[in-house]
Amino acid sequence: MLNIVIFGPPGSGKGTQSEKIIEKYGFAHISTGDILRNEIKAETDLGKKAKSFIDKGELVPDETIIDMLEKKLESLENVDGVIFDGFPRTVEQAKALKKMLQKRGEDVNVMLNLEVKRQELIDRLLKRGQVSGRSDDNLETIEKRINVYGEQTAPVIDFYKEEGTYRPITGEGEIDDIFGRICEAIDSVK
Ligand code: ADP
Repeated sequence: MLNIVIFGPPGSGKGTQSEKIIEKYGFAHISTGDILRNEIKAETDLGKKAKSFIDKGELVPDETIIDMLEKKLESLENVDGVIFDGFPRTVEQAKALKKMLQKRGEDVNVMLNLEVKRQELIDRLLKRGQVSGRSDDNLETIEKRINVYGEQTAPVIDFYKEEGTYRPITGEGEIDDIFGRICEAIDSVK
């Protein structure tokens, strides 16, 4: 079983590249952002709680996310691999993921860090906002999300550097070229 973390700031292309990975390798996809948006649509208690954080561009509290992630992971059966997209987003979450996987005799095999410059992120997210209908794709919230990324999420990079599973990927250029770089990294740990 291959456990892949796809990592990067908002707008770095995690969702886009995850779809391509699934198509090629047939892995399961766990996107915490997608799960949260579904909970909001279904107006669950979790959704209501998450919405207040998401709309402000803040992170949903670790405990809530870790709980949600563990349930999702337990529900997966017969998969060759999992792509974790949008998780872990704090060092606390990275540690929790390691523990969860350890219980199954597994670990994260590779952490792919999509590197994209700040202005490119803002341009992409503003463009996405015109079609996505996502309440957090407006300039004010985008800037907040990128700042939150720098403060709370970027430290996760050092965690995986120490684990020895960190792989930086140039996240700018053609989508297929970026995907090619991702495939190389995945194939090297398969
Ligand atoms: P993006 O990468 O474009 O910000 P996501 O769909 O991954 O989009 O996340 C949207 C929002 O959902 C985040 O800004 C945050 O509020 C919340 N969220 C998603 N994943 C997590 C997580 N692992 N921990 C805390 N909050 C999260």
